[in-house]
Order: sequence, then structure tokens, then C-alpha cells
Amino acid sequence: MPPTVSVVIPVFNEEQILPILYQRLSEVLGAYGEAYEIVFVNDGSRDGSLASLKRLHTDDSHVKVVSLSRNFGHQTAITCGLDQATGAAVIVMDADLQDPPEVLPQLLDKWREGYDVVYAVRDKREGESAFKLGTAAVFYRLLRAMTQVDIPLDTGDFRLMSRRAVDALQSARERSRFVRGLVSWVGYRQTGVTYTRKERMAGETKYPLRKMLKFALDGLTAFSFAPLQVATYLGVSISVLSFLYAVYAIILRLFTTQTVPGWTSLMVAVLFLGGVQLVALGIIGEYLGRVYEEVKQRPLYLLDERIGFD
Ligand code: UDP
Ligand code: MG
Repeated sequence: MPPTVSVVIPVFNEEQILPILYQRLSEVLGAYGEAYEIVFVNDGSRDGSLASLKRLHTDDSHVKVVSLSRNFGHQTAITCGLDQATGAAVIVMDADLQDPPEVLPQLLDKWREGYDVVYAVRDKREGESAFKLGTAAVFYRLLRAMTQVDIPLDTGDFRLMSRRAVDALQSARERSRFVRGLVSWVGYRQTGVTYTRKERMAGETKYPLRKMLKFALDGLTAFSFAPLQVATYLGVSISVLSFLYAVYAIILRLFTTQTVPGWTSLMVAVLFLGGVQLVALGIIGEYLGRVYEEVKQRPLYLLDERIGFD
């Protein structure tokens, strides 16, 4: 019999946190009183996380562990966990206790009311740098402006999904996975529950600037063609401007004796156009690279071990 509730947790080098996480989570789930499973996805951890997860499974059969062959990244780890989870309602949360387990009953209550997706909205974020908060705010507003898919503001991957929402989500096997966007794309009845995002309990963020940038580009390119169209709009505007300038130059040439001072305007035009062309090429490259990834049809991830699944 599949459990009612599955909790999916991606884990990358989180050994210090796992025992506390397990304890707080089991308390909440035990008190809720439904059959449950906790699916940990070990995303190629290099510390003692896997050993610690195996111990948790030995002591408690609610704990299931799937281990990837290497580090595939947060979004792929979530995807793998969703593939393995069998619950009627599936909750995704981070391992670092920034998403407090105490919010779970609220998510489940909304699901009982008939919602297919219940996302947790952060009303406050404790202990994040001003830089992270600022760039995140800009990114999500930009993304919203550029896509048709209605991606809610200030939400991460902390959310509950009904079985049919999970199945729909998992039917999209695209490679550059931006899970929170895909969940919005799924549709059905969605709602939000607010909570205060806590500081990381221990360890440090697994999202350095480089990964954050790739994550943002994955989100934008997976859900919008707008950057590709920028080249078109810029091209049209520049063409119109240069046409007007040409008319002006011809009039000067025909009806006055003033010579057009050439060098400055020429340099500006050449440099500007060169820059614009490189940017446009770069944007095309971002999409082309992702098309290439897609065409290769490699599996999304490879499994090393599955522990606790029958
Ligand atoms: N994570 C993962 N693979 C990665 C990076 C992160 O499975 O390559 C996990 C990590 O263990 C955590 C969650 O994804 O459970 C979110 O990562 P983190 O807390 O470092 O991100 P932040 O909250 O700083 O954005
Ligand atoms: Mg975190």
C-alpha cells in the first residue's frame, strides 16, 4: 500500500543537519497520523551524508534513500525524488531546515480541501545576504514579466503536490529543469501558504554565485523566448534610427556646404553594433546549448543505490 504522504528531500553534503532534520520531521509527521515515507535523495555527497541516511533507514523503515551516481544538482535531485515517491500527496523540502517541518500540516490541510499544488510563500527570509535577496527579487519579477506561465513570487521548491500534479510534472522530461516553473505550468488548483524562511541550521549554502546564475538562466530560457526577441526589437529600432540619420546626412550633403564630421559617429556606431551583435549571438548560444542538451537524450540522472523501497 502506498503511503498517504511522501516527503522528498535532496541532500548534498548535509551530514551535520540530517539527525536534527529527521527528528523534527518524524515528530511532525507522526503527530499528523497518516501513513508516510521520507525519501532522501543523496545527490553525490562527499561527506558522511549517505552513511548517516543509511543509519536512519536501519532505525526507521519510514526512511527511504536513493543515491545518485554523482552530483547532478538540486533540481535533478528533486526530480529523482519525485520519481521514487509513491504518496498520494508529495511534499518537497530542503534538507537544511530553512523550510520548517512545522509548516507541513498546513500544506496537508489545504490538500485535503482539494488543492493540487500548495506552495509555501516566504513572508520573511532570515539570515540571507542582501545580495541574494536583491537578485532574487529582481529575477522573479523579470521572469514573471517575460513568461506566460504564472510563477508565484517569493516561493522556492518547498511545496506540496497531489498525485496527479506529480504525474503531470514528471511527464515533462526536459533537461534544464526549473522545477518551480514546471509546477506552475502543470496548472490544476494551486494555492499558497505563507511562512517565515529560517536561517540554515548548519553547514553552508550549496548554491554559489555560479550555480545561481545557471539556475536563473535555466529558468528564463525554459519559460521565455523574450531574450531571443530582444535582438529583433533592437535590430528594428537601430535600423529606423540609422535610416533617419541617413536622411539627415543626405540633406546636409545636398543643401549645405557643411561636411559631416565622420570619425566619432562612425566609431560609436561600429562599437555599439559590435556589442549588440555579440550579445545577440550569446543569447542564441544559451538557447542553442540547451537544445543540444535536449537532443542528446541522455538520462536525467543515474542511480547508484536504492535503499528501503520494496
Ligand atoms: N542540494 C542538492 N544538490 C546540489 C545543491 C543543493 O541536492 O547540487 C540540496 C541541498 O542539500 C539542500 C537544497 O538542495 O537540501 C537547497 O540547497 P541550499 O540550502 O544550499 O540552497 P539555498 O537555500 O542556499 O538557496
Ligand atoms: Mg538552504
